[in-house]
Amino acid sequence: MPELPEVETIKRQLNREITGKKITGVEVLAVRTLRTSKAQFLEGVVGAKIKSVERRAKLLILNLNNGSSILTHLKMTGQYVYDGEAHKHTRVIFSFGPKLKIMFNDMRRFGYLKLVKTVDLPKFLANEYGPEPLEKSFTVQKLSEILKRRPNMKIKQSLMEQKLIAGIGNIYAQEACFMARVLPTRSAKSLKPDEIQKIYDSIRKVMTEAIKYGGSSAENYLNLYGKEGGFVPHLKVYGRGKEKCRRCGSILKTIKLGGRGTVYCEKCQK
Ligand SMILES: [Zn+2]
Repeated sequence: MPELPEVETIKRQLNREITGKKITGVEVLAVRTLRTSKAQFLEGVVGAKIKSVERRAKLLILNLNNGSSILTHLKMTGQYVYDGEAHKHTRVIFSFGPKLKIMFNDMRRFGYLKLVKTVDLPKFLANEYGPEPLEKSFTVQKLSEILKRRPNMKIKQSLMEQKLIAGIGNIYAQEACFMARVLPTRSAKSLKPDEIQKIYDSIRKVMTEAIKYGGSSAENYLNLYGKEGGFVPHLKVYGRGKEKCRRCGSILKTIKLGGRGTVYCEKCQK
């Protein structure tokens, strides 16, 4: 599933390509993709201009100039594709004039588009999502308080819990634990202040680096232009079970944590 760095990459690309442009037509090929009735969606979207594109957690928010916003969750395989050709996984097509089309493709069909009032967004987002890890207001004290709210939760799962902290999923939670030299199975309450500091620094570092490389195409993530992100070669543990630890050379272990494959180094992580 695309996480913060992947969604941030698409957000920046969408901003570059469609902000200020008018949506002249929408073709809905799969009604299931909409979390708003088709009639309401078309009425609220066609003829509006894109005011800005934002990201919150793993959500893309297309703000329109008529007081509405299109909320998009890419879930497993959702993709916005610039000027592509429609194919069997294309669910919605946005036209911007006669030449430019943006496709919403989604093979697994868990992704969705929902039309909401822009004014209602801040309250909804604050209820559903914890702080953004790259915001200035996200401090190590804040992380420490957040972790205390679920003292028995394992740290990797705490990092993935969207209500506690936004935008981190299975890839970057594993990377952050490795970078911080903390076992993903440690309970939140067992972490010492210096370990929380290391986890904090690791989250910020891995997210910033991954954005720089345009995200990780570990599964089927593609950016707006249909290109893969460049961060996979920089992943230290995700997807590297049974391979050698890049730090100490031991063989990396894989376990299931909350049903998700989790890779770590027994020697480097305590
Ligand atoms: Zn190691």
